[in-house]
Amino acid sequence: MEARIKAEGLDPPTDKDNGPKSLLQSEALYQYIMETSVYPREHECLKELREITSKHIWKKIFTIFIAVSPDEGQFLSLLLKMIGAKKTLEIGVFTGYSLLATALALPDDGKILALDIDRQNYELGLPVIQKAGISHKIDFREGPALPVLDKLLEDVENHGTFDFVFVDADKDNYLNYHERLLDLVKVGGVIGYDNTLWHGSVALPPDAPLPKTLRFYLPFILEVNKALAADPRVEICQLPVGDGITLCRKIK
Ligand code: SAM
Ligand code: CA
Repeated sequence: MEARIKAEGLDPPTDKDNGPKSLLQSEALYQYIMETSVYPREHECLKELREITSKHIWKKIFTIFIAVSPDEGQFLSLLLKMIGAKKTLEIGVFTGYSLLATALALPDDGKILALDIDRQNYELGLPVIQKAGISHKIDFREGPALPVLDKLLEDVENHGTFDFVFVDADKDNYLNYHERLLDLVKVGGVIGYDNTLWHGSVALPPDAPLPKTLRFYLPFILEVNKALAADPRVEICQLPVGDGITLCRKIK
């Protein structure tokens, strides 16, 4: 993302761009949720990975854009168990918080194909992932996700086989991912698109002042939200968890 921001001539966001840690209007309410229901139940390895991630240089400048929040991790975990997911895919791994939350939620013979252009960040979290005893479920592949999806689609055996996909990478490709993922996910399977409320900016007037990074990706997020809402192939639900996650359940 840093390279992209440089290439697009965007200013790196500053700490003051980061705002509150959730979309809830009250920081106290968010803390209440975290302290009552989330932190006491967060797996010790997730906690450790969160601490490692909090020291990452990107964390200082992209607070809301990187690892999912612990309450979102808890939500994903419960969702995966509720749908009985076994075969999953993650696009955008970073240090692996959502990956570890997923791996912990899957049964012992569950599988996650994890895609990211950057192995270095994944390797930061890898010792904790290994310590958690779930690394046998993970197949990490370094590189852009789209060609991997296209390769998977070449084999019809892969069609309609994934139970769950978590999409949390380049926002300008979400709709390209969507077309491919609809062929890869089974009927009744779920795709989660992350950051679809984009720090609340989706509901601001068009001329509202915004940090450049938010402004740059906002049209893509707005386009994604519109397209998903109009897509008859999926049932959807927009949840204000974390930075907003849109769940799509494939219906045909
Ligand atoms: N899901 C992670 C978590 O919650 O801990 C955070 C992922 S972070 C927001 C986005 C990740 O997407 C970055 O690690 C970045 O390297 C990766 N990424 C960006 N463009 C990508 C692409 N075209 N293909 C695969 N990964 C990509
Ligand atoms: Ca995210």
